[in-house]
Amino acid sequence: MPSTFSYEWDTPAYKGKTSFNTGLFINGQFVDGSNKTTIDVVNPTTGKVVGQIAEAVEKDVDIAVDAAQKAFDSAWGLNASGAKRSELLWKLAQLMEANLDELAAIESLDNGKTFGWAKGTDVSFAIQTIKYFAGWADKIQGQTIETDERKLTYTRHEPIGVVGQIIPWNFPLLMLSWKIGPALATGNTIVLKPSEFTPLTAIRLCDLINQAGFPPGVVNIITGYGHTVGAAISGHSRIDKVAFTGSTLVGRKIMEAAAKTNLKNVTLELGGKSPNIIFNDADMEKAVSWTTHGIFWNHGQACCAGSRIYVQSGIYDEFLKKFTEKAKAIKVGDPFGTGIDQGPQVSQIQYDRIMGYIESGKADGATRVGTDGYFIEPTIFTDVKPDMKIVREEIFGPVGVVIKFEDEEDVIRQANDTTYGLAAAVFSQDINRALRTAHRLQAGTAWVNCANQLHANVPFGGFKQSGIGRELGEYALHNYTNVKAVHVNLGHEL
Ligand code: NAD
Repeated sequence: MPSTFSYEWDTPAYKGKTSFNTGLFINGQFVDGSNKTTIDVVNPTTGKVVGQIAEAVEKDVDIAVDAAQKAFDSAWGLNASGAKRSELLWKLAQLMEANLDELAAIESLDNGKTFGWAKGTDVSFAIQTIKYFAGWADKIQGQTIETDERKLTYTRHEPIGVVGQIIPWNFPLLMLSWKIGPALATGNTIVLKPSEFTPLTAIRLCDLINQAGFPPGVVNIITGYGHTVGAAISGHSRIDKVAFTGSTLVGRKIMEAAAKTNLKNVTLELGGKSPNIIFNDADMEKAVSWTTHGIFWNHGQACCAGSRIYVQSGIYDEFLKKFTEKAKAIKVGDPFGTGIDQGPQVSQIQYDRIMGYIESGKADGATRVGTDGYFIEPTIFTDVKPDMKIVREEIFGPVGVVIKFEDEEDVIRQANDTTYGLAAAVFSQDINRALRTAHRLQAGTAWVNCANQLHANVPFGGFKQSGIGRELGEYALHNYTNVKAVHVNLGHEL
């Protein structure tokens, strides 16, 4: 039988409790997985198991797809007006707002990010995203296209149908909102799989989805592992679109599975190794602050983390000194503690992975500035070479490399020397240099004199192996509609 997850907090940051139903959320109800097996939920702050959630298997994906298809054909899809879809999305956002603290505490417990960040960034931005797409739901429209006077031609932007969505653990509820917002606004029904490492806020949201009044089967959320449930979603012949956020490695598998089955429409938001460029003429204090935020925000577990820090030779020593001081001042500890900036990494697997990169950096001869522990301290490497693993691969932890450069040409060449292309940041007080550089960087997002700035109404996504398609903004709607051209003959003889 579906069970309950309960937890109580009595911490400096938050006092409160939660208790909610768990299970696979299919057709508006919580049910057991077909195999009746469970997955442990681990608190990354203590490494202790704090509960269990249902484990879905391949068969459960079929059941969820059936429910989603039924809902699409009856209460949703072309049968729910844009105004209705908008109203329900708005209600959901309001319910999330009413439960903001509780959702933030659950996120913090499950992921290890600080309660303050979970509340101020993750959950607040998720609410903003749902509201933003609520605003689009009754504005999904095609065009009337001129051909000749005896013909009326127009386009319709129709929902695709049942869409599969697979999300990672670094911003669990936020990534969910980026996915369900545009999909629901455009009239699709959903089978979504959260990460097995951070399923709790997605499960908590299910009650709110019901309270908001979404018809059963419009949103189905099933928890399980990637190689079983994720693979079954991406290879499902009755799912016509899959949207994935996660690693480039798994993104490749998603595309292969889609190609081998029904050539489903695929959008991918993948990894990055983003350059952060500081020219001699940058405002030093601001560049140091933004660079620190750029790489160490969310414990370095951000796809757009500015992990390759290029500093022009004239300010290199001063910048490195100030940046190191700022990094050392980051307070690492219990995410519910007072004045804590950074909690633990999300899991033992990630901890080991990141420590492996730190060891490889040292073994390759790079110089490490900083310290370590189970909670990984912000770490900076200097004296790196372009072919080192720590320069080329996404670490997804609080580890940055600082590289000296001489001039604009030199840094653009180095910055673009990567298989990724998610984001980039440029710091300079010369607007011409800053924009010239921003335009030449191969990245889906370029920040000028700032870093990690994301907004619900601005598209986000990658060049090169950082992804396909765009999330957020009007652009995200294109991922979830099929364009139909209608030709009406007004008297043209054959
Ligand atoms: P991951 O690729 O390991 O897992 C992501 C999701 O895919 C999880 O739900 C997982 O269960 C599932 N999965 C795993 N194997 C699968 C398979 N064979 N078939 C289908 N699904 C499968 O990534 P992660 O470790 O959860 O997240 C970190 C990665 O996500 C980083 O590379 C990061 O850069 C990326 N990311 C990108 C963005 C973006 O917007 N570009 C945002 C957040 C995270």
